[in-house]
Amino acid sequence: MKAEKDKVVAVAYTLKVDDGESGQELFETVTEAEPFYFLVGHSNIFPKLEEALLGKEAGDRFSVFIDFENGYGDYDDSKKVIIPKANFKEEGKKNKDLLRIGSVIPMKDDKGNQMRGEITKVDYLGVHMDFNPPLAGYDLYFEGKIVSIRDAEQVEIEHGHVHGPDGHHHH
Ligand SMILES: [Zn+2]
Repeated sequence: MKAEKDKVVAVAYTLKVDDGESGQELFETVTEAEPFYFLVGHSNIFPKLEEALLGKEAGDRFSVFIDFENGYGDYDDSKKVIIPKANFKEEGKKNKDLLRIGSVIPMKDDKGNQMRGEITKVDYLGVHMDFNPPLAGYDLYFEGKIVSIRDAEQVEIEHGHVHGPDGHHHH
């Protein structure tokens, strides 16, 4: 069976990233025992990665380079903001657990879009947050193997995503 539209493909891979300054570093390892499943042809993954997997079969290897512009985009300084500490109070009380450096907090912008921001600093100015995706500005190097391919279930095709290894459960 080949990887093509409306197939569920499981891949194992390593992702190395490069910000152009410190060289390649290992960012993520997905093993064959716990592969990543996706539905082909439904914009589940980067188009360039999907393109490289099309037509391949279980057991085939792949190696894909995606420059940052085709990945998570460039790093955008305007996505760094300072938010008053008062905005983080819950029922009038400071939420100290929330205000930790490295905490990633889901928020809504003024148009109601969901976004995730990481706290990078807390000082007298307020809470410094960075809403860039963690890999903004990084080139991506995927190397891996196709673990398995199966037909998608009708409901998966309707939803445009995978419902787990066997297609039965939903999240
Ligand atoms: Zn679903």
